[in-house]
Amino acid sequence: MSSSEGGKAAFPISLEFFPPKTEEGAAKLRKARRALYALKPEFCSVTYGAGGSTQQGTFDTVAEILEEGVPAASHLSCVGATRERVREELHMLKSIGVKRLVALRGDLPSGYGMGGEFQYASELVEFIRAETGDDFRIEVACYPEMHPQARSPQSDLQALAAKVRAGANSAITQYFFNPDAYFRFVDDARKAGIDVPIVPGIMPIANSTQLLRFSDSCGADIPRWIRLRLQAFGDDTASIRAFGLDVVTQLCERLRAGGAQCFHFYTMNQAKPIVEICRRIVLPG
Ligand code: FAD
Repeated sequence: MSSSEGGKAAFPISLEFFPPKTEEGAAKLRKARRALYALKPEFCSVTYGAGGSTQQGTFDTVAEILEEGVPAASHLSCVGATRERVREELHMLKSIGVKRLVALRGDLPSGYGMGGEFQYASELVEFIRAETGDDFRIEVACYPEMHPQARSPQSDLQALAAKVRAGANSAITQYFFNPDAYFRFVDDARKAGIDVPIVPGIMPIANSTQLLRFSDSCGADIPRWIRLRLQAFGDDTASIRAFGLDVVTQLCERLRAGGAQCFHFYTMNQAKPIVEICRRIVLPG
């Protein structure tokens, strides 16, 4: 059975966008969103540049999504931020009808000192709960292949546990291409008493240079067999896309078969790969 009937994905999904930098980018994103809304996402989230660099673009995009009648989540990162700034942003987001946040530490661009009044995302979650009670549903990030700065997988799991204790409702994973890393991580989390949903973050493969560069810095492993094939395709984007659709569709199928209930897609502001993956996924049974 194919998963997509009448365009809608046959399992819950959420979609992540980044705020466009130009009017042309904003127009392209509107078009992509229109195509993706056919999948009936539970919510669409918009990333937030650490240090507040894309702050207005994030909030403008979130407001547009809400105006389009779709639940929107704003990412909010705390590195380099003051409590006063976060307080103002929370009240503004509440006033425009946002009910869901993705609460993060963030990574400051090189050249910025750490500064700020928050060290870890758990402190941000605690602050949001103290300021706004249960007004927001809070998602946090987690890392099946370990956050690159964590001391150990165990201490990274404890960092997730701290975010959940502080009031997070759900976690979204960094992307990965090895489903066993996800299954092991979920098992370990359950043993550690973390009982919130752990939603796999899914990255489509469309541009190999970008993916390889980004994965090195964010701690997502590109398995050798995928890396070598992508390198061998060179500039042949059609082959990269065809290969990427196969790999990511199979990943989603294995995750579903292993018990994953929903997916969070890193859209990279592109509709086609996600629509095609959701169309292709064959559900177990
Ligand atoms: P934290 O949970 O604070 O963890 C950061 C590091 O500190 C980890 O190594 C953790 O193990 C360690 N740690 C945490 N608590 C403790 C403690 N008490 N003692 C010792 N060590 C501790 N970045 C952006 O800038 N904008 C975005 O919009 C954005 N969206 C994202 C969405 C998702 C779904 C994901 C997975 C990541 C996103 N990121 C975003 C990237 C994220 O900001 C980085 O991965 C960042 O380096 C860590 O953020 P965090 O919220 O996981 O931090």
